[in-house]
Amino acid sequence: MTALHDTFQRPLRDLRVSVTDRCNFRCTYCMPREVFGPDFQFLQRSELLSYEEITRLARIFIQLGVEKIRITGGEPLVRANLHELIRMLAPLPGLRDLTLTTNGSLLRSQAQRLREAGLQRITVSLDALDDDVFQSMNDAGVTVDTVLKGIDAAREAGLAPIKVNAVVKRGVNDHGIVELARHFHGTGVIVRFIEFMDVGTTNGWRLEHVVSAQEIAERINAELPIEPVERSYPGEVAQRWRYRDGGGEIGIISSITQPFCGDCTRARLSPEGQLFTCLFGARGHDFREPLRNGASDDEIAAMLRRVWSVRDDRYSEIRSEETVGLPRVEMSHIGG
Ligand code: SAM
Ligand code: SF4
Ligand code: SF4
Repeated sequence: MTALHDTFQRPLRDLRVSVTDRCNFRCTYCMPREVFGPDFQFLQRSELLSYEEITRLARIFIQLGVEKIRITGGEPLVRANLHELIRMLAPLPGLRDLTLTTNGSLLRSQAQRLREAGLQRITVSLDALDDDVFQSMNDAGVTVDTVLKGIDAAREAGLAPIKVNAVVKRGVNDHGIVELARHFHGTGVIVRFIEFMDVGTTNGWRLEHVVSAQEIAERINAELPIEPVERSYPGEVAQRWRYRDGGGEIGIISSITQPFCGDCTRARLSPEGQLFTCLFGARGHDFREPLRNGASDDEIAAMLRRVWSVRDDRYSEIRSEETVGLPRVEMSHIGG
């Protein structure tokens, strides 16, 4: 099958699969407790795509150009037996990269079996090293030490490279940027600082909360000198920097101040089988219905072709006062 291109000639290369809309954290920038409280209606088990359904879609998507799959959520490790999904995806021919993004709280007990199932590498989110700051952000009482132990377990299991995602919010954790960089300097772990994004509609995003990629780089450079590194492939979301003293690399994800829609090759599959062609999409395209109603692989491939060929998303490039208020899917539903 020939590769797909959208209306801006962007191919489909990456698939992010959100396996659950549930999470054991209530990060204030993602699932604020006031909204995602005890009465919040999460998806029912029967609504979620099964691991077999996800694997079937992944196989078809790979035939149409997907090379990289990232498992995400919600918190992917709260879904039962996630390693079984990894075991099914890892051997798919044509899949070059299989990874997972997790908040790390359940990683200590799962790292080894994820690795054995075929996971290659992992990204762990950790926004601060100070416990008070971290707990005020995750709003679930999970300690920094729990996540650091998860990272250690991932390292011991041989998952590599390990990346750490830190969302930077001004006045909340930005004073800890250099501390985070310093902690992982020289360890092989790549910290990626992420500009706080206006994803979803519930996190009270305001531009004043954003610390720009440039400022993040300057603050780190002042204490731990860095220099830019070439992107390793088109479509890579993080700007790469390396320490001048050989202490490794960091990444900075600048979706607000320097959008990268021009080479966005990502599609996102929600837990109930809706395909979103942009993180800021208001609605997805339903792939569960055909999956459950006997559609052939060719019919599903044709659906994907139709969806991707008309794609014209470039939300971050056209972000404005007006777009910030538009309806869109929550990040905890389709993953980062
Ligand atoms: N629960 C997992 C985790 O936290 O790693 C996976 C899902 S989470 C939605 C994926 C990534 O999105 C995390 O690294 C998280 O920090 C990031 N994220 C969530 N809300 C964000 C926001 N408003 N701006 C920037 N990044 C955000
Ligand atoms: Fe959960 Fe991840 Fe969102 Fe935090 S960022 S609430 S850990 S899904
Ligand atoms: Fe891709 Fe949409 Fe993000 Fe632009 S805003 S980089 S099109 S996901």
